[in-house]
Amino acid sequence: MNILILPGDGIGPEIVAVADAALQALDRRLSIGLKLDHQVAGLAALQRVGTTLPEEVAAKARDADGVVLGPASTEDYPLDQRAGINISAWFRSHFDLYANIRPSKIRAGVPGHVPEMDLIIVRENTEGFYADRNMVVGTGEFMPTPDLALAVGKATTEGCRRIAVAAFELAMRRTKRVTAVHKANVLRHYSGLFLKQVDAVAKEYPSVKVEKVIVDAMAALLVRSPEKFDVVVTTNMFGDILSDEAAELAGGLGLAASLNVGDRHAIAQAAHGSAPDIAGKNRANPVAIVNSTAMLLDHLGAKHKDGQLKKAARLLTEKADQLLISKITRTPDLGGSCTTNEFGDALVNSIVGA
Ligand code: NAD
Repeated sequence: MNILILPGDGIGPEIVAVADAALQALDRRLSIGLKLDHQVAGLAALQRVGTTLPEEVAAKARDADGVVLGPASTEDYPLDQRAGINISAWFRSHFDLYANIRPSKIRAGVPGHVPEMDLIIVRENTEGFYADRNMVVGTGEFMPTPDLALAVGKATTEGCRRIAVAAFELAMRRTKRVTAVHKANVLRHYSGLFLKQVDAVAKEYPSVKVEKVIVDAMAALLVRSPEKFDVVVTTNMFGDILSDEAAELAGGLGLAASLNVGDRHAIAQAAHGSAPDIAGKNRANPVAIVNSTAMLLDHLGAKHKDGQLKKAARLLTEKADQLLISKITRTPDLGGSCTTNEFGDALVNSIVGA
């Protein structure tokens, strides 16, 4: 299994190093046949070769079975379209990674803000109001005059259908409940098209219970009673925002795992950004990228019918969750005193000694 490792920007190199070491430890322990290729994208690549995404790196990502990608400091990228390619957005649109799977749950020992929660947000990842990825040519955001900004939201029948299918398939493997989050009371066509496809797909999964919730109410209900939700499906921006909210309820963005999946490619990338405020301080929480990496292994295991990969995925999340129980092996964002490197060492020891 060929995995490309791209550390990204800010805290990326620190946290991706932990996921990388964990993959190597899993391979030593379970002989899962990993071939890891380490390349550079983002600001380091910009400095070296004048673009955040060199063509050969994009080609290697295309050939890989999966990619582990660090966060991108996109706010610091040059506006120039070749030099400052938004690496996260580029992969999502060029590899058609239409499903962004973002789980959030309460874990033993971790100080969260709610007593109970175990849900997965299934976010459409290639359309919506994301101007840099919702058009083939040009951008979905433009300014006819300096005082007028317009942003176009995109919803297609196929885009809505396939994200609904991803959610219902996931629900079949969980508790057979789907919540579709929308704003069809105002965005009648955009959210309306989404709901129409949810309804159509729901007919193919009669055993799955479906409810529809308007996004503003959902923001409140997530805080009030997150335990009531299981699989939540929604369009791009609503999913982006609600998944950060859910991650925070579970303890913080440092736990926000996420997998970007399409029919051919898959990229593990934590939901959080490059955290410039703590970059280089050895205090970033690597659990989000570690669990994103576990999701990638699980996805590849299912795709290639490889039980060992699925076992590796389970072992990785189990070991990371166990470390979170103790304050000594929690990073400062979760009230602990552990450094990123120390967490990485403890994770590797725990995998190898398992
Ligand atoms: P952020 O997610 O980087 O940080 C928000 C807060 O969460 C900060 O206080 C940060 O310290 C904390 N945090 C995030 N990840 C953490 C971790 N693993 N451990 C401990 N604390 C963590 O969001 P931001 O500050 O709004 O954005 C910073 C940069 O990241 C911007 O350039 C933005 O464009 C970019 N960004 C990239 C992605 C991506 O690559 N997918 C996603 C979001 C933001």
